[in-house]
Amino acid sequence: MSQPAPPPIIEDPFTLYFWEGTKAHQLLIMRCQSCGTWIHLPKPVCRNCQSMDVKPEPVSGKGTVYSFTETYKAFHPYFVDKVPYLIAVIELAEHPHLHFQSNLVGITEPDVKFGMPVQLEWAEFGDKTIPVFRPVTSEGTVA
Ligand SMILES: [Zn+2]
Repeated sequence: MSQPAPPPIIEDPFTLYFWEGTKAHQLLIMRCQSCGTWIHLPKPVCRNCQSMDVKPEPVSGKGTVYSFTETYKAFHPYFVDKVPYLIAVIELAEHPHLHFQSNLVGITEPDVKFGMPVQLEWAEFGDKTIPVFRPVTSEGTVA
């Protein structure tokens, strides 16, 4: 029996930059060109200075675990053999409170700690490449 296809990721003109970035393994986040504030989820106006001069820029891929949960219920047939898995809010290193929702890989729930350092890596998801995060060991290498 063939593997079910993952649920489709809906692209729209305002998030097209994000998916173009993932093809090149770049995590692109909107940034105000006037004051430097990072903006995620993307918006056409800077919340800090109300400038409309916002453009996507690559981030380092470094961050820490801000929050997480473990999912046991498969809400789509694609995930039936993938549960449980970890969903996390990552605080990206570029800016305090710059939060990005993703998956944690290379770790199980009992070992996850709030504030633990993580590093971006890429995972295949159907015809897309998606950003996921893996813990960094105390020696500074990816677990
Ligand atoms: Zn601004």
